[in-house]
Amino acid sequence: MRLTALFTKTTKNVPADESSRNAQLLIQAGFVHKEMAGVYTYLPLGKRVLDNIIQIIREEMNSVGGNEISMTALQHKDVWEASGRWDDEVMDVWFKTKLANGTELGLAPTHEEPLTKLMKNYISSYKDLPVYPYQFQIKFRNELRSKSGLMRGREFWMKDLYSFSKDRAEHDAFYEKISEAYNRIYDRLGIGDITYKTFASGGSFSQYSHEFQTLSPVGEDKIYVHEGKRIAINEEVYTDEVLADLGVTKDELVEKTAVEAGNIFTLGTKFSDALDLTYTAEDGSLQKVFMGSYGIGPSRLMGLIAEHFADDRGLVWPANIAPAKVYLARLGDDEAVVRAADELYEELTNTGISVLYDDRDVRPGEKFADADLIGTPYRVVISAKTLANNTYEVKHRTTQEPEQVDKQTLIKKLGA
Ligand code: ATP
Ligand code: MG
Repeated sequence: MRLTALFTKTTKNVPADESSRNAQLLIQAGFVHKEMAGVYTYLPLGKRVLDNIIQIIREEMNSVGGNEISMTALQHKDVWEASGRWDDEVMDVWFKTKLANGTELGLAPTHEEPLTKLMKNYISSYKDLPVYPYQFQIKFRNELRSKSGLMRGREFWMKDLYSFSKDRAEHDAFYEKISEAYNRIYDRLGIGDITYKTFASGGSFSQYSHEFQTLSPVGEDKIYVHEGKRIAINEEVYTDEVLADLGVTKDELVEKTAVEAGNIFTLGTKFSDALDLTYTAEDGSLQKVFMGSYGIGPSRLMGLIAEHFADDRGLVWPANIAPAKVYLARLGDDEAVVRAADELYEELTNTGISVLYDDRDVRPGEKFADADLIGTPYRVVISAKTLANNTYEVKHRTTQEPEQVDKQTLIKKLGA
């Protein structure tokens, strides 16, 4: 990517109408555009990061047998009436609309109902189970407050997977498997060390659900962390009874503020009862399908990660999700410098190293400031001076001091 070919622009001005740190930084660095509170457009750099997060989640969902689909946001009210969730008292975040003929529709805030109904066409026998459809989709929720930038959108990205199993035993085995996949996702995103599997309230079919809570001073949840066991307890179930059940004591727990980065939930037959999703078992009997739901928020994760790693100079992306690995700054427009920078850009790109090439005609100071603000893991500088020395200047985003290295060393370092 050449910067001159991206329409994105950085700005020194902190957006006045934005109070959240993640959104301020992402707007300043040209990753997102704010449409209104809780509603953000992803610009080229932001789209790259979001896609990188999504790809990691996709790989892990596929690794546990997920089948990717893409459902519609527009949903007929009937399917939601069947479960009782059309009522604004029951689901308080609805955005509702109407067809020209008056038919009521909702912009889906989640997809249990429509998917359960859809699966009636594909599940009839035990041979059709288990099955694990999932999607990446924009959800719409009329959240009361939306002051946390990308962490609480009114229109946001969600990965939602739903499991359809023959019985509880089959469900429980998958539940464990996907829980491990979630841990791998947070590790790959660079936040494994600050993310805890957290016991939270369950439903009629299970005592607990599990949230994956990431520590953050701007989080809205309070959790009690057990560092030794790498688990936490959400304050909503923080009782003596639960502590005893989990075999932990109060003095082993530390209270922390966190953001829910994902959750997994045993639904049981709640939705298969409401929408009559059944299958014929091996013994010929008619059974209800046993369900679970597994959510994770790619856009919330992007805001969370942006905010967590940022320093006073700007964003600092973990290598796995950075919009590019290297920011290549060409200083000046000396013909030899341009040629050397163009060559290095081609060479790195051909080696599979992603490069954001600052080929703009702006001052070095501006390029350095933008490299820091955008937050790629490495910055490489080519100037008349480095050319004269036959070296390249390279610096990691988190260190101050650049190194001068030869090309071979540079490529080795960046490729690692
Ligand atoms: P919260 O308690 O934070 O509102 P939730 O319990 O409503 O979350 P779910 O309905 O389980 O969340 O959604 C699954 C995942 O989607 C969450 O774990 C979170 O990562 C993400 N998510 C939920 N609401 C939002 C939102 N308003 N903006 C961005 N991401 C969200
Ligand atoms: Mg919510």
